[in-house]
Amino acid sequence: MNILVIGSGGREHAIIRKLKESPKTEKLWCASGNGGIAADAECVAINAMDIDGVVDFAKKNAVDLVFVAPDDPLAAGMVDALEKEGIRAFGPRANAAIIESSKVFSKNLMKKYGIPTADYAVFSDPKEVVEYVEKRGKFPVVIKADGLALGKGVIIAQNFDEAKDAVHTIMEDKVFGASGNNVVVEEFLTGPEVSVLAFTDGKTLRPMVSSKDHKRALDGDKGLNTGGMGTISPNPYYTNEIADECMKTIFLPTVKAMQAEGRPFKGCLYFGLMLTPDGPKVIEYNARFGDPETQVVLPRLKTDFVDVINAVIDEKLDELEIEWIPEACACVVMASGGYPQSYPKGLEITGLDENGQAEGVTVYHAGTKLENGKLLTNGGRVLGVTATAKTLDEALERAYAAVEKIHFDGAHYRHDIGKTK
Ligand code: AMP
Repeated sequence: MNILVIGSGGREHAIIRKLKESPKTEKLWCASGNGGIAADAECVAINAMDIDGVVDFAKKNAVDLVFVAPDDPLAAGMVDALEKEGIRAFGPRANAAIIESSKVFSKNLMKKYGIPTADYAVFSDPKEVVEYVEKRGKFPVVIKADGLALGKGVIIAQNFDEAKDAVHTIMEDKVFGASGNNVVVEEFLTGPEVSVLAFTDGKTLRPMVSSKDHKRALDGDKGLNTGGMGTISPNPYYTNEIADECMKTIFLPTVKAMQAEGRPFKGCLYFGLMLTPDGPKVIEYNARFGDPETQVVLPRLKTDFVDVINAVIDEKLDELEIEWIPEACACVVMASGGYPQSYPKGLEITGLDENGQAEGVTVYHAGTKLENGKLLTNGGRVLGVTATAKTLDEALERAYAAVEKIHFDGAHYRHDIGKTK
């Protein structure tokens, strides 16, 4: 198959590496890719939001399958546009991608179908939110922008003043644009967080192995929220018993709810869960593979990835047994100094070659570019240094040993991936 992957981060690099393992993959393109993806696929200069450009490229180049990885083009209807032209595409249509692109939609869906989640209220008027939060009088309180906000639209306010500021930032300053027209105010939940990605064809759901993200920038879960500073798989808190409960109370009910709403979800459905004292609850849904969860989950997939993708698209997931490699996997993100705020770009990255030989280590590229044969930083999250091993401790040891060998000025990474709740 000739396959085009949309996106340019570490997640897309992991997807491309897995697709490359399949004997069914003939040709691989990536729009627009990065400095590391360029070694594994032909990078084409089409923006991930350029739906017409992608459709046009797919038609002209006899693309058999387009894998749409990021949230924005999914929400904007890239899969719908491809299907309309008879091109196979992996990912939900826009009417199902809304499960991520509108928190108001997903919260109302969970309420309607009795799927456990934090109590909430929805507002479109900033004055009303502030009044509500004051009257409610319970802190911390969670304030979320309705729409997509690069994973940064969630503010946990410790007191009334912080809540007022959050409402101002989201609804009046509109730092997330129209995503902040509505907000969800949520009860603050506690407990270990778990990410479960699942393949679903709209009817059957097959959970992938579990993982755990580390969202904060600094050690000890301090500092600002980021897109993700590292991941481990499996998640040690996610027991078989909890997995069974999630299947019954969350995963299958969600797939059925989307079907009942006339919005069958086909693709990768991501469940962000919190294991609260009252049982597992949904913190958020994503309509796609997570980044950097993908970097620790996909390496463990044993079944041919192309077969899984085809089963999802053809709605034959019930006929496919999906197998996983019983190893642990850890990913340490190396970020630019200053991330998630402002940071420099264009700094030379050295020390990568040595990792080619390190056992079990793969370095997924995110914000990198090749210029005159040199590898340079080109984004906030630069590399996802990933390792598999028999145990999680060993995987972490391997990943950190590889990190030590890589250098760029100001490189920042967390030293406690896999060690915090
Ligand atoms: P989200 O983008 O919705 O996943 O939120 C980002 C992060 O905020 C989550 O990973 C949690 O750590 C935290 N968070 C979101 N909602 C809640 C909540 N209701 N209670 C406690 N923490 C939350």
